[in-house]
Amino acid sequence: DVADIGVTGMAVMGSNLARNFARNGFKVAIHNRSVGKTEKVIDSYGTEGEFYPSESAAEFVASLQKPRVAIIMVKAGGPTDAVIDELAELMDEGDIIVDAGNALYTDTIRRESALREKGLHFVGSGVSGGEEGALNGPSIMPGGTKESYDRLGPMFEKISAHVDGAPCCTHVGADGAGHFVKMVHNGIEYADMQVISEAYDLMSKALGKGASEIGDVFAEWNKGDLESFLIEITAEVLHHQDATSGKPFVDVILDQAAQKGTGAWTVQTALSLGVPVTGIAEATFARSTSGGTAQREAARAVLPAETQQLEISDEAQFVDDLQKALYAAKLVSYSQGFDEIAAGAKEFGWDINLGDMAKIWRGGCIIRAKFLNRITEAYDRNPELALLLADEYFTAEIAKCVPAWRRVVAYAAASGFPVPVFSSTLSYYDAVRAERLPAALVQAQRDYFGAHTYQRVDTEGTFHVEWSEDRRESKQD
Ligand code: NDP
Repeated sequence: DVADIGVTGMAVMGSNLARNFARNGFKVAIHNRSVGKTEKVIDSYGTEGEFYPSESAAEFVASLQKPRVAIIMVKAGGPTDAVIDELAELMDEGDIIVDAGNALYTDTIRRESALREKGLHFVGSGVSGGEEGALNGPSIMPGGTKESYDRLGPMFEKISAHVDGAPCCTHVGADGAGHFVKMVHNGIEYADMQVISEAYDLMSKALGKGASEIGDVFAEWNKGDLESFLIEITAEVLHHQDATSGKPFVDVILDQAAQKGTGAWTVQTALSLGVPVTGIAEATFARSTSGGTAQREAARAVLPAETQQLEISDEAQFVDDLQKALYAAKLVSYSQGFDEIAAGAKEFGWDINLGDMAKIWRGGCIIRAKFLNRITEAYDRNPELALLLADEYFTAEIAKCVPAWRRVVAYAAASGFPVPVFSSTLSYYDAVRAERLPAALVQAQRDYFGAHTYQRVDTEGTFHVEWSEDRRESKQD
């Protein structure tokens, strides 16, 4: 019982996380269902630090210092449940089981509640940054009890990414809060990736630029407000040449994007909470559209594409417009994502500090970006901020982008290029700030066919009109 912490699941994520702990001076117990993977870690990386390999779960648990901390990094779903059950049987009151895989937050709530009854702490923790992040410093989003964070927080903070000396890890909130926030992080990632791709698409189709030339534009953008990991890798990918064909790499890839489900979870959850995450939703649907082979074939056969492509007189202006539109659309997607976190916190009783979430996303994770500082500052200025877009800094930033954003969406619509994230975020921006929405008519229609009642602008109370009779209005309460 000497190890500070243990990791079970020695596939790419788990082994990298274990090596990260070991490289940071922690004694790490390691385990995997099939022993071969554990042996491979020891053979290849055993000299990086103090590892304590074990062949069985019992041996693994016995090698941990009390209160024990065991991190599970196995396939999400059934396998995670199986490993939790196995470890729980072997552990004692006060011990901590961490699920660092990509679990759905409702599973985490269920698992936390079951283990609490057994006197164990269960921590659902988001870990972002892919395999590279797991090894060199991810962004870590742990949920669970404060007590469990006291034990594992210092270790997680040490192995996480650091920005300006601050760890990209903090206690997010109780039970499923960590996995909830990780889910929304991934949703925002979908929106970011899609809107970047829309900007690329317009430069390619509207300006006729080649991949490498577009890569230059992204590299340039990465020096300004848009500076981020995703813009940086976009430039790199666009500059990459395919070794087999000699063509730009992006041009030889099938235009069908896959998904593992966290974007869909974000959207499904937002629908249940009634939060409009239109940027994330359109980005998720865009992946589905791309993969809808039968539909795309049927459409291409009869519906001519890209009719009436408009001329662009000033190419530099168009690229500048795209940069501004990208920034504005991105701000809306983040604002919507933070709305979802706030709504989730309210629904599930989590005390989540929104500014801290932006802070721990500044390094290690896929959406790491310079501008996240601005989000933290906005919530520092006003922790009760109802809408991120309404913060004074963002209001001013968006104002600078709006005319360009409209020109981009108008150009794309008139020319026949799809820009689902550029356009849906602009529509949201126009809706959320509108004096009056057509929802009044929707409510009247609902009252007409379903007696769903309505409220008036000039009087308190709930009303209904007898539509099929004398159309007399009556007060309902
Ligand atoms: P995989 O998701 O490919 O899972 C493989 C591991 O799960 C192996 O160690 C395997 O053991 C183990 N396993 C599978 N079934 C069982 C079972 N029934 N009982 C015990 N162990 C089982 O590994 P990854 O490293 O890619 O991912 C691990 C977790 O991290 C997943 O939840 C994934 O969603 C998440 N992830 C997160 C990323 C991120 O950026 N945060 C990126 C990638 C993944 P065996 O060798 O014996 O088969």
